Amino acid sequence: MTNGDVIDPTVPPSGSGCVECLATDGWWLHLRRCARCGHVGCCDSSPSQHAQAHAASSGHPVVRSFEPGEDWFWNYATSEFVMGLPLQAPEHHPLDQPVPGPRGRVPGDWQVYLH
Ligand SMILES: [Zn+2]
Ligand SMILES: [Zn+2]
Repeated sequence: MTNGDVIDPTVPPSGSGCVECLATDGWWLHLRRCARCGHVGCCDSSPSQHAQAHAASSGHPVVRSFEPGEDWFWNYATSEFVMGLPLQAPEHHPLDQPVPGPRGRVPGDWQVYLH
């Protein structure tokens, strides 16, 4: 499998937050962006781990961090960091978006829910 099969730099991210969390009143710690289709999901420390679920259900193994200042790529199929390339902007969630997020939906004792 080459990078071209799992990374499409022309696809923009699906939005500024986890697709499934936003649809279900959920919240996340950090965000990951599918390098193939742009799906934004929540990280493995988040309560619902939607990025990992997307990788499993879609067959898109590579994500890139969607956090400001982070440009690493991770392959869920091999559990390895992999080389990537610049992706379609925006390359991270908005700077004024809180971590954890989204604003107004994170419980006060959020640390209890992390994995
Ligand atoms: Zn999520
Ligand atoms: Zn995908």
